[in-house]
Amino acid sequence: MKEKISLLIQLQECDTSIQKISKKIEDAPHRIQGLQEELEAAEMKSQEDRDKLEALKKESRTFDQEIDDFDIKFEKSNTKLSNIKSNKEYTAALKEVEDLKNEKVRTEDKVISLMEAIEEGQRGCLENDTRQKQLQETFEETQKKVERKIDDLNGALEVFKKKRDNLKASIEKDLLDKYLFLWERRQGVAISPVTGGVCQTCHMGIPPQKFNELRKGDVLMSCSHCKRIIYWADDAHYQATTEDQGDRPPSSHQE
Ligand SMILES: [Zn+2]
Repeated sequence: MKEKISLLIQLQECDTSIQKISKKIEDAPHRIQGLQEELEAAEMKSQEDRDKLEALKKESRTFDQEIDDFDIKFEKSNTKLSNIKSNKEYTAALKEVEDLKNEKVRTEDKVISLMEAIEEGQRGCLENDTRQKQLQETFEETQKKVERKIDDLNGALEVFKKKRDNLKASIEKDLLDKYLFLWERRQGVAISPVTGGVCQTCHMGIPPQKFNELRKGDVLMSCSHCKRIIYWADDAHYQATTEDQGDRPPSSHQE
């Protein structure tokens, strides 16, 4: 019986490893997902900032045109001034020139502010480009790392699956069925160690007479509380089983 129990212990360890590795394979892509979202947000911001910069440049070109127009208007006003006869007309024309001057100054001030905004926008766009490039690099590096990790995990998974198949083949059908039934219905723990008369999975005590029988290890026994198959963990036979893990594949799944 002890030999059979040993095989079940090994099978459970194998199944547990398979479960953990499968979970890691499933979770691995989540690491890239966050980075991808960050990268997409950075791309969107870059585009928005570029659009803003273009709008500022366009506005600045409009004002440049307006300033050129002022010069034409000045010329016209000056011609007008030289042909004026009455004082009243002259005063009005002078005021017109004065207004034009003031308006030109205001427009030039606007152009200066716009130039400053354009310079700031250009700096911002350059910073965006740098950040985006860094994010892209981090994303690609992480993606490669994750792919390598998934490859490693798949390799380890294969080793454990083969080991599981071999173990299953060495366990008699009734016992294996019982194990599989419990594994499914008892949260992946079908066989539980008992130490000091206590089931180490459900933490309920085993009656003394039953515990004595368990220590002998002659028959298959179950915890009367959680119904899992139980074994006496202090038996040197099982300690050798759990320590003998030499054939565990060298994988990164135990990180
Ligand atoms: Zn129990």
